[in-house]
Amino acid sequence: MTAEHAPPSFAARLPAVDRVLGTPALKALIAEYGASASTRAVRDAIDTLRPAALAGEVSAEHLAPDAIAAQAAARLAHQFAPRLRAVFNLTGTVLHTNLGRALLPDAAVQAVVQALTTPANLEFDLATGGRGDRDDLVNDLLRELTGAEAATVVNNNAAAVLLTLNALAAKKEVIVSRGELVEIGGAFRIPDIMSRAGATLIEVGTTNRTHPKDYAEAITGDTALLMKVHCSNYEVTGFTKSVPESEVAAIAHARGLPLAVDLGSGTLIDLAQYGLPHEATVRETITAGADLVTFSGDKLLGGPQAGLIVGNKDLIATIKKNPLKRALRVGKLTLAALEPVLQLYLSPERLAERLTTLRLFTRPQAQMKAQAQALAIPLQTAVGDEYEVSAAPMLSQIGSGALPVDTLPSYGLAIRPMHVKRAGRALGKLEAALRGLPRPVIGRIADDTLWLDLRCLEARDEATFTAQLAALATAMADA
Ligand SMILES: *Cc1c(COP(=O)(O)O)cnc(C)c1O
Repeated sequence: MTAEHAPPSFAARLPAVDRVLGTPALKALIAEYGASASTRAVRDAIDTLRPAALAGEVSAEHLAPDAIAAQAAARLAHQFAPRLRAVFNLTGTVLHTNLGRALLPDAAVQAVVQALTTPANLEFDLATGGRGDRDDLVNDLLRELTGAEAATVVNNNAAAVLLTLNALAAKKEVIVSRGELVEIGGAFRIPDIMSRAGATLIEVGTTNRTHPKDYAEAITGDTALLMKVHCSNYEVTGFTKSVPESEVAAIAHARGLPLAVDLGSGTLIDLAQYGLPHEATVRETITAGADLVTFSGDKLLGGPQAGLIVGNKDLIATIKKNPLKRALRVGKLTLAALEPVLQLYLSPERLAERLTTLRLFTRPQAQMKAQAQALAIPLQTAVGDEYEVSAAPMLSQIGSGALPVDTLPSYGLAIRPMHVKRAGRALGKLEAALRGLPRPVIGRIADDTLWLDLRCLEARDEATFTAQLAALATAMADA
């Protein structure tokens, strides 16, 4: 039946907004969400039903005030539910950029809660009562932990590089090896940042080999600085040569120029002591002669999103005077989180236990194996006999461009569809069901298998994970 032919009684059966607002269910919603949001939800629910109601396609039961109230409740619940949701990162990539990178330790969480709810001396010098500098909150810590003379903090490492280049090399030339013109995920490209900063990129060497004389011969009266960039998410292997920081620094200093190093992840400690591969530390880079080092707060450091610039105090002073510094500065939440994270590094003996990211990097494989063996049977029950679940060794990655080719021996659950021919569809269904859970579970599909790497499922989250298995069983049965 079409709208023109529908008897008027169908439209008349749509309840008035006020009638729905008078139901007990709506009174409860108004108490929770307020009258304006609740009324809007009722109107929207009625408006959505109107065309079908006019066409006579909706039964009286669905047009009853209580039914409309239920629709409004669902709308409100959806509207007020957070879009930024907690998930389980079982991808095997610990610092997963799309899942928010580093998880912060409790000390940082407490400091952020306090900064959110209490006034603080963000830019107030408690010793003199005068105006303070927000960088001073972490300056001493950064100097102590890196050996640099001075430090400043901005929004992220991309901002740190942009600001450094704009402050020191606008309208001048910056020399970079062709082998280091990297693109980091999410559209950070050295040549683009360079041009946005107003600096001219002078590429030297070739993709695989750059020699000291390549740098030396490229220096002109227009050169502002020499720059080295950590390759982060790739590795040049085979017939390669790059010039170490110490040699580039010597070449720069002989001509009175500074060397800036974009370390990317930038670690403050030698990871080798925890059985991880060695990665040049910020201190080693400063000691090698870098005048400025830029690095991220939320990669290997294990802190909040931030870009740290450490180095020569005169250069840092120039950087801090640049107007972009004001545009790129960090907020109090970042500094509140960063300070306790840096303080953890003052007690390296306790770091692997207290710094969440390092604890995850160093989790014993036996612990993850025991966890996987305990979870395999309940998970098998939840996914059903269309799949085979097994506890299996796998390899995790640090992620975010830190040590890209290095992998950490891990353990987890491998879920394989029983019917190889329909594997693609079966994996898609499973992946969607996991994503649809109250706390979505994000795994990784490879080799016709869905892998759930348990490295990032710490004991305190395990109960939440298992509590969802019943919902997973329902979702799989319904799909
Ligand atoms: C990750 C990375 C960046 C970007 O850092 P963000 O903190 O994500 O802005 C820049 N340079 C290098 C070498 C990196 O590895």
